Amino acid sequence: MERHTGAVDYQYLLDEAMSAARRSAGVGRVADYIPALARADPDAFGIALATVDGELYGAGAWTQPFSVQSISKLFTLALVLADGEQGIWERVGREPSGNPFNSLVQLETERGIPRNPFINAGAIVVTDKLLSLTGDAAGAVRAFLRTEADNPLVRTDPEVAASEAGHGHRNAALAHFIASHGNLVNPVEEVLAEYYAHCAIEASCRDLALAGRFLARHGLRADGSRLLSRSDAKRVNGVLLTCGTYDRGGEFAYRVGLPGKSGVGGGVLAMIPGRAAVCAWSPGLDAAGNSVGAVAALDAFTTLSGLSVF
Ligand code: GLN
Repeated sequence: MERHTGAVDYQYLLDEAMSAARRSAGVGRVADYIPALARADPDAFGIALATVDGELYGAGAWTQPFSVQSISKLFTLALVLADGEQGIWERVGREPSGNPFNSLVQLETERGIPRNPFINAGAIVVTDKLLSLTGDAAGAVRAFLRTEADNPLVRTDPEVAASEAGHGHRNAALAHFIASHGNLVNPVEEVLAEYYAHCAIEASCRDLALAGRFLARHGLRADGSRLLSRSDAKRVNGVLLTCGTYDRGGEFAYRVGLPGKSGVGGGVLAMIPGRAAVCAWSPGLDAAGNSVGAVAALDAFTTLSGLSVF
């Protein structure tokens, strides 16, 4: 809602979005297929917003770190595309999969080229590329988050990473299958270790809103330097809109109307291009793996404010 001064009262909007969505926080199931994630407090709920010109707002548990999980896939893709590198698009597609994020079925018919960079198969290929480019894919993601969020405490939770590795049969199957088609450069075990290590990064809504801001700033980082070209920032937002929330991209566009990325830790990071990045968190997930409370909060936020891309 805009006040008569013309300025947007973001704090008011976040507070209202939180209270409108409060009943949805605590609904859904905390992810337990990665046992270490099952410890998350199902009632935790927070939201943060970082504007393109440096204002920061938050409500609820907005500074509490949580497991970013698949939200990291947005950062691995952006880091791979930095400096105009486009070769990744020969190894991964840009279409929604219409299947669960950890599905194996399409890889068989599509000969080891994953549908998009945000399902697990595609993210494993992107991680492989980032590992080739940097020698330390998870370290590159951590460094980016620390710098953009100005928070040196952003770290990988070793227990979550080990828990993922210990229960990672499906991701290992995906990676081996991709490798059998010649679409992995580095050894499968190394790629998986990096993939688990960036999924197991802990960061808060505050950190993620600040770190995702470059996509609202048409590719510009916090210090004004360019991470992505304007057109690559537009393209990443486009792929987020269609593929960022697993096979619920249609529903997310319908309800929230923003490009966004979810993770099974319960976070959802969304972009309002030209204005702000906003991140909501609540650990209870729907059947597709999206946070019920976080999506409800973002739905309420864009409905109240009219700030969506539509
Ligand atoms: N690390 C998780 C996995 O590989 C990420 C899944 C997610 O957040 N959708 O299963």
